[in-house]
Amino acid sequence: MTEIASADESAVAKAQRELEAAGVRTVIGTVVNASGITLAKSVPLARLKAFHQSGMGAAPVWHVFTIDGGIAFTDSITPVGDMRLKIDIGGLRVLQGGRAWAPGSLFEQDGAASPACARGLLADVDGSLDEAGYQALVGHELEFFLVAPDGSALETAPWVPYGATGLLDRSEFLDDLLSVLNHTGIPMEQIHAEYGRNQFEFSLPPASPVQAADTVVVAKIIVGIVARAHSMQASFSPLPFPGTVGSGAHQHFSLHKNGLPLFSGGSGPHGIRPEGGAAIGGIIAGLPDIQGFLTGSILSGSRLAPGTWSGAYLCWGLENREASVRFLNEGNSNPHGANVEVKIVDPSANVYLASASILALALDGMRTGRSLPAEVPGDPGRLSEDERDRANVRLLSGSPTAIIDTLDKSRLARGLLGDAIVDATVAVRRYEQRISADLSPGELAERFRLSWSI
Ligand code: GLU
Ligand code: MG
Repeated sequence: MTEIASADESAVAKAQRELEAAGVRTVIGTVVNASGITLAKSVPLARLKAFHQSGMGAAPVWHVFTIDGGIAFTDSITPVGDMRLKIDIGGLRVLQGGRAWAPGSLFEQDGAASPACARGLLADVDGSLDEAGYQALVGHELEFFLVAPDGSALETAPWVPYGATGLLDRSEFLDDLLSVLNHTGIPMEQIHAEYGRNQFEFSLPPASPVQAADTVVVAKIIVGIVARAHSMQASFSPLPFPGTVGSGAHQHFSLHKNGLPLFSGGSGPHGIRPEGGAAIGGIIAGLPDIQGFLTGSILSGSRLAPGTWSGAYLCWGLENREASVRFLNEGNSNPHGANVEVKIVDPSANVYLASASILALALDGMRTGRSLPAEVPGDPGRLSEDERDRANVRLLSGSPTAIIDTLDKSRLARGLLGDAIVDATVAVRRYEQRISADLSPGELAERFRLSWSI
């Protein structure tokens, strides 16, 4: 115990010396709540140890702050009580301007993890995978729209989806983004102009689940910093402009056991091993139950349309962009190895919770020995309804009320992740439904265009 404490002391002291040498004056610690918004406290560098060891105070309502600055109280989350926001010094990153950032988790005052802390839940799920002998790696993609500082659309020359034009039109922003990410030690893999006007996407390499989610948070912060420096803002809304494509936050993952990949080298379709097949089976079976964690916001459902590559059809298939679960084969063209992409996740989701719920379903599938459903090889949208029925493919719900009602009633989601996070998520998303009841699709998109920006 004393040894652990003194090792921790020296790690904090070392981190403090390094940050001081890098010119850091302020340390920002963040958490992402049930609304998918990022909350923070900051301390002067001299308080690094306190931020890490005893944490800073955070009211329980932090879990249920809403996208319009309101609070969605629940029976158990009231104005009474206090939590501690503690930073993980292992995740510290130096930002520009004398600032450093670290990921944070929420704890009760007695030191127990707060049951609605999504980062804590993801660490728990990863721990359960580990106990069962599995190792998961997660890789994130980030899509966002560049907009004016007030959220309005930018004037642009004609936009070419996936075109070189967007890369040149926004080259100053993109150069800076790459250089700041590099400086912060975040290895962006590639960036391209997306389908939507002024929409970009970059991907991050696979990492352990918590570390991968932490990197998404700091990458979004950096996108926000660089966009501001170029007199713009970045929208992480699932559907910033109605009537066109939205933004996804696709999550890829792979699983290993005893050093062997579970999605390749086996005798199933595309080399999928039985446990890998069970993991995919668990996800397909449980996806509607956890949709409230992945696509639960008031704007999520309208993004989930066929023909937009958001994975609106509940099925899986090799390189199938209309399937909610896209399978990527191993091979020369895929240096990261075979993996599974859950396409329906969008950037209004809490990234920790999205990973926690996906991996919990995968583990559940492996524990209960689910079988791999039949693959859907083509675009399910081109099948007739009868053909889809026979193939057991259905469209996922795009209705915010239905998605959240399903989550609320889901014994599976409550069993896997606990009542606290389900109740908090249901509370904030129902609040969004209440405040949006009278808004047209255009008003809705406009009002919340910057709600998930950092
Ligand atoms: N923007 C699409 C979405 O909403 C994804 C396009 C792509 O496959 O990169 O998920
Ligand atoms: Mg994309």
